Amino acid sequence: MSELLTIECPICGKSVVWGEISPYRPFCSKRCQLIDLGEWANEEKRIPSQGENSDSDEWSEGPEQ
Ligand SMILES: [Zn+2]
Repeated sequence: MSELLTIECPICGKSVVWGEISPYRPFCSKRCQLIDLGEWANEEKRIPSQGENSDSDEWSEGPEQ
């Protein structure tokens, strides 16, 4: 069980190894981390909303009969 889990940097999209070698995870680098922090400070991290009242029932839950 030594699979490397990689994720994508939320800032630039580079793949980042989720592990000790990536101290800035989930960011690829300190720079991206700072960018993210900066966005927090400046814009309160506004995420362009895609409709917050998403209809979560589009995925049918439970067996159909
Ligand atoms: Zn990055």
